[in-house]
Amino acid sequence: MSAVIPNLYRHTKIIITLGPATLDEAVFRKLLLLGLDIVRLNMAHASKEWTEMATEMVRRVSKSVGRDVAILMDIKGPEVRTGDVSDTLQLEEGEVFDFYVSTEAQARNAGNGIRSTTVNYPGLMNDVKVGDTMLVDSGLIRMQVQDVTPERLRCGVLIPGPLGKRRHINLPGVKVNLPSLTEKDKRDVLTGIACGVDFYALSFVREGSDLDLLRRFMSDNGSQAPIIAKIEDQSAVTNLSEIIRAADGLMVARGDLGIEVPFEKLPIIQRRIVNACIAAGKPVIVATHMLESMITQPMPTRAEITDVANAVFEQADCVMLSAETTVGKYPVECVEVLNRIIGECEQAYDTYISPFKPKTPKGKLLSAAATLATELQDAAIVVFTRQGTLARSLSALRPWHVPIYAFTDVKGTFSELLITWGVEPFLMEFSDEPEKTVQDAIAYLKRRNWVKQGTPLVFITNVLAGELKVDTVQLRWVE
Ligand code: PEP
Repeated sequence: MSAVIPNLYRHTKIIITLGPATLDEAVFRKLLLLGLDIVRLNMAHASKEWTEMATEMVRRVSKSVGRDVAILMDIKGPEVRTGDVSDTLQLEEGEVFDFYVSTEAQARNAGNGIRSTTVNYPGLMNDVKVGDTMLVDSGLIRMQVQDVTPERLRCGVLIPGPLGKRRHINLPGVKVNLPSLTEKDKRDVLTGIACGVDFYALSFVREGSDLDLLRRFMSDNGSQAPIIAKIEDQSAVTNLSEIIRAADGLMVARGDLGIEVPFEKLPIIQRRIVNACIAAGKPVIVATHMLESMITQPMPTRAEITDVANAVFEQADCVMLSAETTVGKYPVECVEVLNRIIGECEQAYDTYISPFKPKTPKGKLLSAAATLATELQDAAIVVFTRQGTLARSLSALRPWHVPIYAFTDVKGTFSELLITWGVEPFLMEFSDEPEKTVQDAIAYLKRRNWVKQGTPLVFITNVLAGELKVDTVQLRWVE
């Protein structure tokens, strides 16, 4: 069933990450009523049992509210982490610190007066060299490699901080030779397939072939779900074109990206990725730290408001919340804040020239339809689509102030379109008679208050001309 909640139309979609703060029926219900579009499961912190429980809750509550959302499983990909420490270590500036390939190697060297932990990836010793920078725990701790042996990496602490257990390590500019799909990733994908997850996001994609590998694994196990490439390091930025070609969408994963590249380059990279995705007709998500201060405060900072607005003005398909909705104190307020900022900015904005340039005759027909709809007052576009391609192309044209109502009779296409800028998808049976399908769509939209009497509707449909089915753009008014 599609959304029954009227007047929540936004061009820009909202993704929340599910966690203790939102894995509660009453809270989740409120998020659905605010028009939430996609729920992300961050598999870096999730077990099979948790995933089963979370997907069941999402589907059940969505059904009872009457708002279907898509589920995006974010698999953790190749990740280097520190090992266990019995107590958090307070590192000191200038301190020498060791990382070992195993607890055995660490034990053999205990008593040498140098504090240490292990790393989860023994190959690290082959990938780094003296002078490389190592950033631990989202860049809070900065170290420099001083010496490398086959079993130990010795670093000097440049910026100290508390080192807890299993902290994430970033190595800016270092090509880490970990496989792009780990055994845990494969287990997670199998769980996702069993739970009917709608999208997968692959972390630390470095090149197009990383996505091919995941796609093959999914296809071998019966899933054709779309794959989002998370852009979070320099090699992904370098290989952007081939990654866009191999992926179904991209995520600007600013958390890691802002550590892996010089932070002043982040806004430029974000803008470049968003633009390149629109030009390719693929959806793009801007993620991380959008409302970070709202983890503990009920109001966003002025800078966060402007950051969200910037993503809207850049024409990103989605904005995404992470810790704000996993462990934050104000998950519902966060989505309300996004709704307010997006709503206001989308009202205010009116000139944008999309870099998406359709080349086929059908694409040019869509372009004509989008121009017609934008030049009419309060018009909407209605499109019928099985694969979602027409709806995605219309979206890439970014017809401002024009909702794109996409009717499909394919459940997978319905879910896929939940990520796409400007598209409100509806699941409906199609008739063999095109006019009946058009009338059914109008009745559906009226019944659910998406349109009112007098609304101009630009239809992209076909008509029967004798034996022929002819593509048409039609202008009708709701009666
Ligand atoms: C990010 O780094 O911005 C991100 C979304 O990935 P994760 O939350 O998996 O670190």
